[in-house]
Amino acid sequence: MKKPLIGVLALQGAVQPHKPHIEAAGGEFRAVKTPVQFDEVDGFILPGGESTTMLKLIDNFGLWDSLARNFAEKPVWGICAGCILIAEKVSNPAQKSFGLLPISVERNAYGRQLESHQVEITGYPVSFIRAPVITNTGEGVEVLATHDGDPVWVKKGQAMASTFHAELTLDFPSPMHRAFVEMVKKRA
Ligand code: GLN
Repeated sequence: MKKPLIGVLALQGAVQPHKPHIEAAGGEFRAVKTPVQFDEVDGFILPGGESTTMLKLIDNFGLWDSLARNFAEKPVWGICAGCILIAEKVSNPAQKSFGLLPISVERNAYGRQLESHQVEITGYPVSFIRAPVITNTGEGVEVLATHDGDPVWVKKGQAMASTFHAELTLDFPSPMHRAFVEMVKKRA
């Protein structure tokens, strides 16, 4: 079987660190930023970074429609800023999003002291970096992991989100990359 091609949206943020995780999970990595490249991949990772900057670049380069069309058909995993981009509702402040997952997120919601920290999620160390908090999950949203009572890894249908970074840990692949590559394989 052909390896699933995972496109990591490469406008801004943590793109390259996904490569060894995707490869160790049996997928092929590609950094993508044009509509032609979006059409070629089997699934998308929207990386962590700064969601406002990503939105500006998506608008400036006229990528919204092509991304929305692809997201409607293929598995998508949004990480931190990427989670904000695919949430239905965003606060602090409110901003536009693709609304792929019926969740509400509050940006930069962890207190100062907790702005960046490492914890274990399902036995794997991950990093929270100015992470959003998922304040509400809608019908059919599966909570795959919680931290301090908040959902931090969720999924519904072909959309998955985590408020933490798994790609910065150098133990390949992370359980989250493994789960996502499996999701893409099932569909491909
Ligand atoms: N604070 C960023 C935002 O609101 C997200 C941070 C991250 O992706 N690590 O977009």
